Amino acid sequence: MTEALDIVITKAETSKLNVMDFDHLPFGRYFTDHMLEADYENGEWKNVEIKPYQPLLMEPSLSALHYGQAIFEGIKAYKDIFGNALIFRPYDNFKRFNISAARMSMPSIPEEIFIEGMRQLTELDKNWIPAKKDHSLYIRPLMFATDTELGVKASATYKFLIMLSPAGPYHDGPMKIVVEEKYTRAAPGGVGFAKNAGNYGASLLAATIAHKNGYDQVLWTDSSEHKWLQEVGMMNVFFIINNVAVTPSLNEGTILAGVTRDSAIILLEEMGYKVEERNINIDEVTGAYKKGTLQEVFGTGTAATIALIKELKYKDFIMQFDILSWIAAPELKRKLTDIKEGRAKDKYGWLFKI
Ligand SMILES: *Cc1c(COP(=O)(O)O)cnc(C)c1O
Repeated sequence: MTEALDIVITKAETSKLNVMDFDHLPFGRYFTDHMLEADYENGEWKNVEIKPYQPLLMEPSLSALHYGQAIFEGIKAYKDIFGNALIFRPYDNFKRFNISAARMSMPSIPEEIFIEGMRQLTELDKNWIPAKKDHSLYIRPLMFATDTELGVKASATYKFLIMLSPAGPYHDGPMKIVVEEKYTRAAPGGVGFAKNAGNYGASLLAATIAHKNGYDQVLWTDSSEHKWLQEVGMMNVFFIINNVAVTPSLNEGTILAGVTRDSAIILLEEMGYKVEERNINIDEVTGAYKKGTLQEVFGTGTAATIALIKELKYKDFIMQFDILSWIAAPELKRKLTDIKEGRAKDKYGWLFKI
């Protein structure tokens, strides 16, 4: 393999691998032996290195902490049934990372750092990819502003990092969701389409209140009427109504363009469903429920892939679903897993070999 990019690699002296308990992997808690780091200074990326996973040293005035220029991605590497180490659609995350960067007035990252750096890091720590069903290695690229002065302006310096975290199966089960009517995640002209840190900070209070009331997450609605549906927590949302799959369109920039969402649209069409990307409001959903044409509701995202929604609450109206009778979501999940694990043909070129 040609090394277009000179990445300095310093290996860890000892591995933490033998003390890892792969049967207990809370999401994102443990990190592998190495990380990738690069710095942006004087208009260019430099000091690209892979080194032992370690704390960062920073000044209290670090710009990202004060003014929020921070973006991230979430990607999965895993082993297929033949033992090949693969990454799922990393180029889509690479493109989205640079879309987020542009919106946050941050520099773009070159492909050879994001993709080739990720490849080399994952290769080095590939023994951390659990070769177990539904297990994966979660890849977290991150970029943040590193200027150390308090003037409010786009930082001139940035740090890019990639860290890796082994992940077990997503056990949370079918979700109970409440339609959010007070708080807003994203408004037109805002940053909803970017995977920037502030979006998540802003969403936590609504989720905390939902938890207190016995719900797992909220279904976000538009900022003016609180009727038009956006996303469910950190996942895109799909409804099967009268055998048509409906998901909110990306037009207004209030929705994160999920890679899983895109994969779901393609596979649902393959399964014979008509897929509509359009505005959908809660009255259409409750109306379909009352008529008996609301068949399935589910979320899509890298962490859970397809997450079934067994209960949806809007004001005092509670919609409950018999998820055992569902057809689309389980088949979609199976099709996606079959492609990833090598049981079905990768006809869209989604799999990236490490
Ligand atoms: C990351 C994310 C998603 C899911 O995107 P995937 O690429 O499918 O993982 C959906 N909504 C929000 C708000 C997200 O941050």
